[in-house]
Amino acid sequence: MNIILLGPPGAGKGTQARKLVDERHMIQLSTGDMLRAARTSGTDMGHKVAAVMDRGELVTDEIVIGLIREQLETAGDHGGFIFDGFPRTLAQADALGELLAEMGQSLDHAIELQVNDDVLVQRILGRAAEMVAAGGQARADDNEDSLKTRLLAYYKQTSPLIGYYHAKGDLISVDGLASVDEVAASIAKALD
Ligand code: AMP
Repeated sequence: MNIILLGPPGAGKGTQARKLVDERHMIQLSTGDMLRAARTSGTDMGHKVAAVMDRGELVTDEIVIGLIREQLETAGDHGGFIFDGFPRTLAQADALGELLAEMGQSLDHAIELQVNDDVLVQRILGRAAEMVAAGGQARADDNEDSLKTRLLAYYKQTSPLIGYYHAKGDLISVDGLASVDEVAASIAKALD
């Protein structure tokens, strides 16, 4: 079972992906997490993407497709892949289809978490405040300016994927405004 979690920043993709990992032994492939890891490890690629990420823009298709290819090639035994924050462009969606086909696999569902923008802004700024309160550091891109750019990038570049997966017959939309457990239950119902 290979699935994509689709939705704007703050929709709850990461939270739901982590639940699926715990409950179904799936592997979460979050390009955002991979890029943040590259930044902290100080690789060339990390330096290259840092400013782009902080502004809230998308890094190049070539970089994220390369990261995903690497992870797909090295994954061990598991209950399927959860693509979280990938694909974000039509070129990435095509590349994902090709990578899976090369492995003799395919995508089962693209699950869209539907939310509205007011909730996103509150959630993301709340997430930043919580991380600081817990003695940590907020994500560099969890601020209002970057958030606006991230939302715009979502509507311009990523939301066309909803039509793309709908046309392929793979799209399932769930209400992302419900509680974490309710959203998880809707996803489980879709998968079983
Ligand atoms: P996320 O953690 O998914 O919100 O991603 C954080 C940031 O990483 C995004 O705002 C982008 O700058 C970058 N990023 C993550 N995934 C992708 C992707 N699939 N394509 C392009 N940029 C990405």
